[in-house]
Amino acid sequence: MDDDKENLIRLASLVEESIVDGPGLRFVLFTQGCPHRCLGCHNPETHLPIGGTLVSLGQIVALYQEHIDCRGVTFSGGEPFSQASSLARVAQAIHKLGGDVITYTGYYFERLQNLGSEDSGISDLLKETDLLIDGPFVLEKRSLESPFVGSTNQRLVALSPAGNRLLEDVPILPEGPMTLRIQYKVS
Ligand code: SF4
Repeated sequence: MDDDKENLIRLASLVEESIVDGPGLRFVLFTQGCPHRCLGCHNPETHLPIGGTLVSLGQIVALYQEHIDCRGVTFSGGEPFSQASSLARVAQAIHKLGGDVITYTGYYFERLQNLGSEDSGISDLLKETDLLIDGPFVLEKRSLESPFVGSTNQRLVALSPAGNRLLEDVPILPEGPMTLRIQYKVS
């Protein structure tokens, strides 16, 4: 039963092919439930941890496989780390199929690392994430120009070599605020 629960994800919505949620064509899961309550949030309907639709890992992977042109999956929300262990399993399956994984979060990376020391689901999702787009949406720092972020406090944090490749494919615009990019260091 617990295993069944781990294989269910509560989704607010799903977009099968998107070009605005990270580099390339992406399969996007908008998760239901978010604790952050950012002022000016564009997805307030995702805040409650109830509602949405429960979808199984198998259903998601089967649907993903119908979109062979997709470069990978993007977890958005809502707060993906509120369902970290289930999404880590989805991410693992996508990696096995050759796709990459972008995760949006209202937490900063450093906070997730701390939380991950006590919550294996969070550390698992961090391990399975190639590019983390972190930080809450801050209305006073809203940016319409910066690719793939909503406000300039948010960062693009590569957590793997595949994350570095994603980072390279995020355009650097000559005008507009610069988004902080943190590269994964291959040791
Ligand atoms: S983290 Fe995202 S979904 Fe959650 S309140 Fe902030 S902007 Fe909205």
